[in-house]
Amino acid sequence: MKILIINCGSSSLKYQVFDMTNEEVLGKGLVERIGIEGSKLTQKVNGEKYIIEESMPDHKTAMKFVFDSLVNKEHGILESLDEIGAIGHRVLHGGEELTESTIIDEKVKETIKEYIKFGPLHNPANLMGIEACESIVPGKPNVAVFDTAFHQTMPASSYMYGIPYKYYEKYRIRKFGFHGTSHKYITGRTAELMGIEKDDLNVITVHLGNGSSLAAVKNGKCIDTTMGLTPLEGLIMGTRSGDLDPTVLTFLMEEENMTPQEMNQMLNKESGVYGVSEQSSDFRDLEDAAIAGDERAKLTLDMFVNRVRRFLGGYMLELGRVDAISFAGGIGENSDIMRADILEGLEEYGIILDKERNNTRSESLISTDDSKVKVFIVETDEELMIARDTYELVK
Ligand code: ADP
Repeated sequence: MKILIINCGSSSLKYQVFDMTNEEVLGKGLVERIGIEGSKLTQKVNGEKYIIEESMPDHKTAMKFVFDSLVNKEHGILESLDEIGAIGHRVLHGGEELTESTIIDEKVKETIKEYIKFGPLHNPANLMGIEACESIVPGKPNVAVFDTAFHQTMPASSYMYGIPYKYYEKYRIRKFGFHGTSHKYITGRTAELMGIEKDDLNVITVHLGNGSSLAAVKNGKCIDTTMGLTPLEGLIMGTRSGDLDPTVLTFLMEEENMTPQEMNQMLNKESGVYGVSEQSSDFRDLEDAAIAGDERAKLTLDMFVNRVRRFLGGYMLELGRVDAISFAGGIGENSDIMRADILEGLEEYGIILDKERNNTRSESLISTDDSKVKVFIVETDEELMIARDTYELVK
């Protein structure tokens, strides 16, 4: 069966086609600047690019161009749209109700709509992608795969906030967690690399990219994670602040006359390593600057590492027994410097990084043979995870 994967952002749309007989990627594409002047579709098949530059004022128009490109006579990925067995959609927020991947019906769409309150940029775009597919290729099964789903096995003691209980009852204010598709993939892949069953594995999954989060996984199930009601909680990220004393918000809102929207913008887009360093959200730039002696860049990276270690230590206690720590994401997979700094001096805890093995960007074991806790680089693949979940539900 062939499966189309759709990942809709507010102004962009990524897609991939998988042949599930061997999980091969047949082709993929990206639409940029939807609803903005200069819309552009770029499709890649066998290393060759096919580009369309036409006006795409909304997601439905963009989806029409995607379906046309998929079956383009010269540059297409498929002979006919009939070959598509199902469509898998990445959806940001499934709330408390949608705890696993699911075939989309009206009720599912209602829940996605309800959680626009906590995913105001992503959930509306995800919904537009779903509705565009329903109207352009009616009758095909559409599956939603949620960023929040993997974390819904957390116990209430992990996900409740220390504020009056009535706000949980009234609005469902609690920790949900994100990047779940990646944490799920990393968990499964780590079990495979260790040659054990997922249900026997205790692992701390460390996804470090533009957005970053950790998850504590016990017997294959998530028991805690760093992101919260929204992806803002937890680690210091590219442009997101992560944890801070909530008084910082009320103080600044009063002193600087900031509205809730301005505060949201500041915390999500102007903070993190970008805000502290005042130069870049890209870890390559920051590492280069720190090596060249830039004190601010060094402070920024030290802060990032401090927060990762703080959660890592907490999750080691929550799990009791840790079999593995697995790094993924743009930073986790590529930065030997960050991995080495995060795991420095943890020999007493049975975590020993092998300097030679760490000097790689490939999926592999990077701890020493006598390290009690195994350390891995895992090449995370959220699209493949979405394709697998979709296939499981429709086959
Ligand atoms: P997203 O969360 O948008 O999917 P990625 O997982 O692709 O992001 O991660 C992007 C981050 O990875 C950027 O901060 C980038 O600087 C970082 N990165 C990529 N390659 C390297 C590298 N070789 N060394 C350090 N950081 C890297």
